[in-house]
Amino acid sequence: MKNIAILGSTGSIGTQTIDIILAHPDEFRATVLTAGSNVDLLVDQARQLRPSLAVIADQSLYGRLKELLAPLGIDCAAGPEAIADAMARPDVDIVVTATVGYSGLVPTLRAIEAGKDIALANKETLVAAGQLVTDRLSASPSRIIPVDSEHSAIYQCLRGERDAEVERLIITASGGPFRNLPARELATVTAADALRHPNWIMGAKITIDSATMINKAFEIIEARWLFGIGAERITPIVHPQSIVHSMVEFTDGAIKAQLGAPDMHLPIAYALSGTARSHQSRRLSFADMARLDFIEPDYDRFPCLGLAYRALAEGGTTACAVNAANEVANEAFRQSRIAFTDIYRIIDHTLDRMDNIAAPSLDDYMEVNRRARAIAAQAVGSHTAAHCLAD
Ligand code: NDP
Ligand code: MG
Repeated sequence: MKNIAILGSTGSIGTQTIDIILAHPDEFRATVLTAGSNVDLLVDQARQLRPSLAVIADQSLYGRLKELLAPLGIDCAAGPEAIADAMARPDVDIVVTATVGYSGLVPTLRAIEAGKDIALANKETLVAAGQLVTDRLSASPSRIIPVDSEHSAIYQCLRGERDAEVERLIITASGGPFRNLPARELATVTAADALRHPNWIMGAKITIDSATMINKAFEIIEARWLFGIGAERITPIVHPQSIVHSMVEFTDGAIKAQLGAPDMHLPIAYALSGTARSHQSRRLSFADMARLDFIEPDYDRFPCLGLAYRALAEGGTTACAVNAANEVANEAFRQSRIAFTDIYRIIDHTLDRMDNIAAPSLDDYMEVNRRARAIAAQAVGSHTAAHCLAD
């Protein structure tokens, strides 16, 4: 029996993780559930799963959480510190990092410090602080198994192979809802348009990130840290069907791919079970695979994609600043405060005003995250001055 802490149990990955736990009651038990502010769903989940602890990030909701769960003998806590502390509990074996954005970093570091295994969905942790997380991992018995479908695919393709024989990683991208939209129309798309992803149902932030393709930039950075392979050997390719989840090319020219339905249950179950194939996922038919297209990505229409190479070439805190500025711009776009094409402009504007810090400490990352968010927020605020961003 493995004890699971779900960091972000009320979201898209969190609820699908619960599906897996409920489908395998002899294998998994949820001992810690955490959420941001959706206290009602957290309470429903806790009533069903009976964890030892439920934590809500929004401290103003603590009273309600406690009132509803204390009679059931479930401990309650609130606030980001309590979330991080929960990761280190003795009744946790695996942490599923299913929270969104930078909020995943500190709890993930705490889990690594406590030697917990990690099923990593929260890519922003590796984007923002890949070097620090990798350094901490090398001094810990913790293992990271990726949940992101592309990284799970690469992880599966690499099993049984020799590191020296890996030539490159090929990361597939659906291309998002605007894959075929002419550049001039991108400026007027709405958040509702961007939230209509063609293949995947996911949380709002990552769905917008997929539409700008910064999600793919983040996945290139995530792959660099997970697999220790330089950016020059990681290639994105647009594959609109989302059937080939990613590929590895070897030195003899062989390419291995992992195929599957676009359904996160498979990579979640694979990571939770430590690579066992015990979960029955949606099957592919040959009709589903009748047509598989592969198209070079368009860096002009989707300039956010190129940020991966810029951030990895600069190293230090650049990727942390990209992530922070994107979080602010992504949210502003969802609130219809800026145009879709402003998202890249705001990130670029922020990077131009940030100094890169080489070999950063956790405090440096914290400060860069804070500063980049402030610069991006100011750019959003003065955005009606679109010309301010047009430099
Ligand atoms: P959602 O927005 O659906 O869920 C986010 C979860 O995190 C919710 O439980 C939310 O709580 C919680 N949360 C949000 N902010 C905070 C905070 N400040 N402190 C504590 N908890 C917080 O996101 P997804 O499930 O779509 O994505 C989660 C992560 O997985 C992201 O990093 C994403 O990039 C990655 N990922 C997602 C995929 C998918 O298919 N969805 C695929 C691959 C990767 P509340 O509900 O209360 O707001
Ligand atoms: Mg992905």
